[in-house]
Amino acid sequence: MIAEVIVDIAASETDRIFDYLCDENTIVGSRVRAPFGGKTVPGFVMRLKETSDVPEHRLKRVYPTPDELPALNAECLALADKITARYRVPKALTLRLFLPSEMRTGKVRELTRNYAELTMPFSEMKFRAGSKNQIGAAEYLEKNGKSDCAYLNTLFPGGVSALEKKGYVKITKEQILRDPYKEVVSESVERTLTPDQERAVKTIETDSRTVQLLHGVTGSGKTEIYLTLIAKCLREGKSSIFLVPEISLTPQMLSQLRARFGKQAAILHSGLSAGERFDEWWRLRTGEAKIAIGARSAIFSPLENLGVIIIDEEHDSSYSSESAPRYNTFDIALLRAKRNGCKLVLGSATPAVDTYKRAVEREFSLIRLDKRINQKPLPEIMIADMRREVRRGNSSAFSGVLKEELAKCLASGNQAILFLNRRGYSQTVICKECGYVAKCEACDVSLTYHREEDCLKCHYCGTKYNMLSACPDCGGKKLSYAGTGTQRIVADLQKLYPTARIIRMDNDTTSGKEGHYKILKTFAEHKADILVGTQMIAKGHDFPAVTLVGILDADMSLHFSDYRSGERTFQLLTQVAGRSGRAEEKGKVVLQTFDPENDVLRFATTYDYQGFYENEISLRAAMAFPPYSKIVRVLVTGEDDKKTIEALKEVYFALEKIYTENTDKFLFFNKMRSPIKRIQNKHRYQVLMRLSDTSVLPEIYAACADARTRDVLVSVEENPANLS
Ligand code: ADP
Ligand code: ZN
Repeated sequence: MIAEVIVDIAASETDRIFDYLCDENTIVGSRVRAPFGGKTVPGFVMRLKETSDVPEHRLKRVYPTPDELPALNAECLALADKITARYRVPKALTLRLFLPSEMRTGKVRELTRNYAELTMPFSEMKFRAGSKNQIGAAEYLEKNGKSDCAYLNTLFPGGVSALEKKGYVKITKEQILRDPYKEVVSESVERTLTPDQERAVKTIETDSRTVQLLHGVTGSGKTEIYLTLIAKCLREGKSSIFLVPEISLTPQMLSQLRARFGKQAAILHSGLSAGERFDEWWRLRTGEAKIAIGARSAIFSPLENLGVIIIDEEHDSSYSSESAPRYNTFDIALLRAKRNGCKLVLGSATPAVDTYKRAVEREFSLIRLDKRINQKPLPEIMIADMRREVRRGNSSAFSGVLKEELAKCLASGNQAILFLNRRGYSQTVICKECGYVAKCEACDVSLTYHREEDCLKCHYCGTKYNMLSACPDCGGKKLSYAGTGTQRIVADLQKLYPTARIIRMDNDTTSGKEGHYKILKTFAEHKADILVGTQMIAKGHDFPAVTLVGILDADMSLHFSDYRSGERTFQLLTQVAGRSGRAEEKGKVVLQTFDPENDVLRFATTYDYQGFYENEISLRAAMAFPPYSKIVRVLVTGEDDKKTIEALKEVYFALEKIYTENTDKFLFFNKMRSPIKRIQNKHRYQVLMRLSDTSVLPEIYAACADARTRDVLVSVEENPANLS
């Protein structure tokens, strides 16, 4: 028997099929160890055949890796083919997406535990006087049956091993699966769906379109709809994939899922230890668990017979991968949904402009949930004009109205969240007196300050502008481009409210899943009054006692040098505001800004998604930004500057040829140094393009695949989340 093998080396020279001799019982999709270039390397069996074009005496033999099941099932293999073709990356890289890295590196130790069990009744055993621990252990085992040796040893030190020596006890090793969230438990609540939820479920099940967009305001009960769909699939013996942006940030969601589905759900995410992740993956592969829950990588779960795929908070930027292959989760999900003939449900209170356009144009089905479950209005949003505060001599981070509302909130024993818009923390220049922001004349996106050259640059066209010494609009000299950190905010708050219990959550305070979990738990148990944080706290949390949300610098993210900054800001503000007033008491939101007349903020304060969308989509059309075009960046990075420039030249030459032959399909084409010239010692260069017609995309991918070398990475990004 001949096996066609892909070796697990992600280099272009090895990126092809190699023939090997193999055992008769080899299975497609299984892992093998293959002799390769004087070493033995891991590989995957892609296909089996009877004969090879390579003469028999030159064929080497592969050895199977002792897995109980082939690592890759048929669906994963088929998907891997499509992904490899679409993104033009080495097959080995694609295959890695489908396996927990622990499986490849072999770092997982199976966790086993010793169990003791009596071989005869206690009454027939003989003991010398004083053998207290032996007798104790034997009695315990007689009463409780098979038990954990480690536990018995804490009760009766040495007892079990003495019993074993006498032959009274048999010890067996058993594999135990790690249970990452055993501490997160809550009771299961099956809820009766509201008529709106019923209608949504029915539409999703009966509408003929594959993609179903669930556009529901925060607190409208989307999660319950997802859970109902998953439960239905489970009853029909089908599996489901449920994607959430950052599950480790939402312990409530975790406990709900655990309570509802128990061991049927496997939760995959970055906060797990290597062993835990492997175990969860394995439970999916064997079919013991039928629900995969996790961040974007869970889309590669080894499931078959899918009944539904759900992408919650579909607008979230974490669904685009930032390492090769730079896939978009939606694209992969759609491939899987089509293959399984199942629905792909996208949920959001603030759908991505691109997604919403496709729904409006009826390519996707559009289901609206306009009301919160508790029938309460969405929290009232008050705007605080920070320019006026500055003029009045208040240059602190808190407006008068926010201080007033905070005092009221604390006095009534409720909780508050203060949000710092760190996503927009960029080197953008803003006038503190009139709110003026420096923008590119050609692209209408904010300029970014570059310290080394002391100039302002547009990240979309590369144009340079001189640094400003005064505001061109009002002549003011208070130009600022630095936000205030969370730490500083907490210190200032503590001075204002000496008795308030304040905690903060940002990248510095949270290490690993435990870190997030502890902070959120403290807040949920009302052991703190104010939570200060960055966008980490914007997502999905349900804290019933929160009646006030303060957004300290709402416009910061508006000036991020990105065509999507309006969209991002609208999404973020809606999310944060949605944390207020989720239970009985009415919620309030104070939104502080230097730019109160801004359209995006106006729409956000009235929760007017439709208005926002119409405004935004016409801007995009006017500026020919996505979805009316596609931005493509080819990024060339390498440690050796000379080799990197060589590769850049090669790829630029090839791309320029595509450009000159298809000028009508390009809106923009230029090579430039990327805004950040070196990251982690790698030099970075880029070719930036904007396409009006994406039919040249496969050619661009091919050109980049050809220019890639051992030392230089050449990657293609479509509508990249940032251009730094
Ligand atoms: P969303 O995901 O749309 O923001 P959630 O699913 O978190 O909304 O629902 C908001 C609140 O309403 C939650 O506290 C949830 O437990 C509750 N809820 C949802 N559906 C129902 C229902 N059918 N009956 C009672 N409570 C519900
Ligand atoms: Zn520009």
